[in-house]
Amino acid sequence: MKTNLPLDADRLWTDVMALADITDPAKPYTRRSFTALFLEGRAWLAQRFAEAGLATRLDAAGNLIGRIEGNDPALGVIAIGSHSDTVPSGGRFDGIAGVATGLEIVRALRDSGTRLDHTIEIVDFLAEEPSEYGLSCVGSRGMTGSLDETMLALTEPSGETLRDALRRVGGDPDRLDRARRDDIRAFLELHIEQGIVLESRFLDVGVVTSIVGIRRLEIVFQGEADHAGTTPMNLRHDALVAAADTVIAVRRLAEQLAAEGPDYFVATVGILAVDPSASNIVPGRCRLVIDARTTNPALTARFVDAIDRDSAAHAAAARVARASFKTLSDGPPVACDPKLREALQQGARDLGLGQMDLPSGAGHDAAFMSRICPSAMVFVPCLKGKSHAPEEWADRDAIAAGAAVIYQAVKELDRSLPRSR
Ligand SMILES: [Zn+2]
Repeated sequence: MKTNLPLDADRLWTDVMALADITDPAKPYTRRSFTALFLEGRAWLAQRFAEAGLATRLDAAGNLIGRIEGNDPALGVIAIGSHSDTVPSGGRFDGIAGVATGLEIVRALRDSGTRLDHTIEIVDFLAEEPSEYGLSCVGSRGMTGSLDETMLALTEPSGETLRDALRRVGGDPDRLDRARRDDIRAFLELHIEQGIVLESRFLDVGVVTSIVGIRRLEIVFQGEADHAGTTPMNLRHDALVAAADTVIAVRRLAEQLAAEGPDYFVATVGILAVDPSASNIVPGRCRLVIDARTTNPALTARFVDAIDRDSAAHAAAARVARASFKTLSDGPPVACDPKLREALQQGARDLGLGQMDLPSGAGHDAAFMSRICPSAMVFVPCLKGKSHAPEEWADRDAIAAGAAVIYQAVKELDRSLPRSR
């Protein structure tokens, strides 16, 4: 890896580590959105933004934004960002590395005496991780006009609504229109890969091609709960037997679709609820939830058709009813912008870094941002692909390399983005 990067790797690393220190000491690394610790982290970030010469504000959707005006304010904004909240007992890099990257890019531009034509904004999106209110990507939904009244009415376990929580952290749920943007010309996000592809290929950066769409399917098999000792095998209506066949079918079909290539496809049965779930009772009811992710919705359509057919057959074979087969949620895949991807690829080439294109199997703020502006992402390798865990780790130089790719791309896009106003 080339070491003379156009930014200060140590300064970037120091920020990531300093923010990591703002954690629930009993559960490192925890900085849940809407909590006092989260606000403490943000106060620290706002301070760092100000020290870097950024004008800092909170928008109506609760996003922390640092801004440095360009030579020509009419050209609009190049935004860089990610999120500073974590899952419970999460890591030090997921989200944080992307926010710190934006900050370091602004400082590096300043140090080199460069003032861009475009205005630059660094965004710490509110609550990217699933929040206590049952919603993720709250801030990026708000910035893109995708945060609606139903979502604001969601409550956390003690009863506070998301609307009240948003107000509590400095947002303005009654004026979300003010958070909605039409002046952003490009959005770039650095994130740890959360997978093992880059690490296993010894590559420095991944340029994300698209962010998967996620379909969640619920299937309920309804049989009869009977005595496990007195009910002969040929008289049973065992709901779990049907569910088990379906779990295997999901696995086989997903393997087959993934192997077809070039599109990404994965599917998981992550919830299997057996009722009554007792050792001496034949399972009477079984609910499973399938999470299917792809870059190509046509594959999901084939998958859903096949699982529909198969699960009906599994129910019949087990002599149970398929009481429900329904889609719980369906988010489309999002392609990253080709022009931005090219700028990132060129940046990596200029820096002599090893790179590849790859899809993102996880959701990100960039997926929402793509609704209002060209968006793209850079992945950096993380140790053994682990994330959402305290062991989550990315090397200092790996983060710096990814940040440098975005730095190069920002400078290139400042020159090459369309200048129509
Ligand atoms: Zn993240």
